[in-house]
Order: sequence, then C-alpha cells, then structure tokens
Amino acid sequence: MNLPSPGDYIDIHNHGAGSRTGIFQIENLMTHENRKPDFETGLTYSGGIHPWFLTQNNLEPHLTIVRELSLHKNIIALGEAGFDKIKGPDQPLQRKAFEEQIRISEEVSKPLFIHCVRSWDELLEVHKKLRPEQPWIVHGFRGKKELALQLISKGMYLSFWFDFIVRPESARLIQSLPHERIFLETDGSDIDIRTIYKKVAADLNLSVSSLIYIIYSNFGAIFKNKMV
Ligand SMILES: [Zn+2]
Repeated sequence: MNLPSPGDYIDIHNHGAGSRTGIFQIENLMTHENRKPDFETGLTYSGGIHPWFLTQNNLEPHLTIVRELSLHKNIIALGEAGFDKIKGPDQPLQRKAFEEQIRISEEVSKPLFIHCVRSWDELLEVHKKLRPEQPWIVHGFRGKKELALQLISKGMYLSFWFDFIVRPESARLIQSLPHERIFLETDGSDIDIRTIYKKVAADLNLSVSSLIYIIYSNFGAIFKNKMV
C-alpha cells in the first residue's frame, strides 16, 4: 500500500493522471472501465460504480466488481458513487447502487468518495438512514456555503477542483470552512494539482507548505488505520 509522505502534495481524486514525484494521488477506478489497481509508485486507488454508467442490467455484475475491488490491498476507498439528476438512470436505481456501495464501504471499513449532482436532499436522506461510520468525501464540490457547512456537520469532507477554485465565489466559500475538512483534486482535468494548491493557499492567506501540512493531516485523519 502506497501512502503519502509529509511534504507531498495530495491529489485526492483523479482519473489516471499517472505517477509524479512529490505528488501523492488517489486514482479513481470506475467499474465499467475494467481497470486494475496495479501497484504504481506514488498512488493508490478508489473504486466504484459511477452513476453515469449504471444500468438496470449492469448493476449486479458491477456490484460484484466493487466487492472484489473493495478487498484489494491497493484500494484505499470506495466510490465515486452517489446521485446525478442530470445524467444517469432513474433515481431508484441510482439509490440502490449507492446504498449497496455504502454497505460495502462499511463492511471493509474504507471511506467513500461521493459524486452528487443536484441531489443533496437524497444524499442527506441516505446518510441519515444508513448512518455510515466511514467518512464520505464529496468530490468536486461547487455548492453554497450553507450546503457545505451542512455536509460538514454530518461528518463529511469536501474536495475542490480547478473549475471551482477559479470562480470568484470560491475564495469566500473556502475561507468559511474548517481547514480540517478540505481536500483538493484534479478529477479528470490535466491541471497540475500544485496550481490548485497555490490558488487555495493564497485564498486562505497561507503558505503552500502550510496547506500541504493541513491536507496531509486531513488525509491522516481519514485513513488513520492505514497511517500507523
Ligand atoms: Zn471523478
């Protein structure tokens, strides 16, 4: 199992950026891609069924893949999984797939990456119903402050990507959040994670090395059983 070293930049969620010195990454594997969590220096993996690629016919076979992935030593977290109102199948099917993946994340004690588009009520409802112990990391967050604080109050973490942090409203939002709930990611883009750290450090009036320390600590809080 690869883990970040103090001083590493952490890209908490991406899709195959490839390993780079000084950057630790969690690379997301989506079940339909049929990729394997092979050992690669400087990165580890998350795995799950992305709601965009879910169908009535592939739910069961893809849950089998998630169960297999969940036990793999190079898989540190489950997901991305969740809800999407713009793209993907009907909500009951999305919910079924999501709830199953929450159960798997709880069974194997690995955190869950969340994909959520315009379905926050549903997300909060499922969280309330299943009361997961594993932390949820909401990736690609770009909502409002009230929503951000509500998710944080439920124990969730928020991860921000380039498209959001360059928006004028992002600085004030990130400034209003507790530092211990923040992650940064490149997601599918080819933006360098160091560019994102630089922008967010400036917005928070911190040095980049302080931000590196904060996010490394946050990683340690979520993956504490792996860090000892
Ligand atoms: Zn993603």
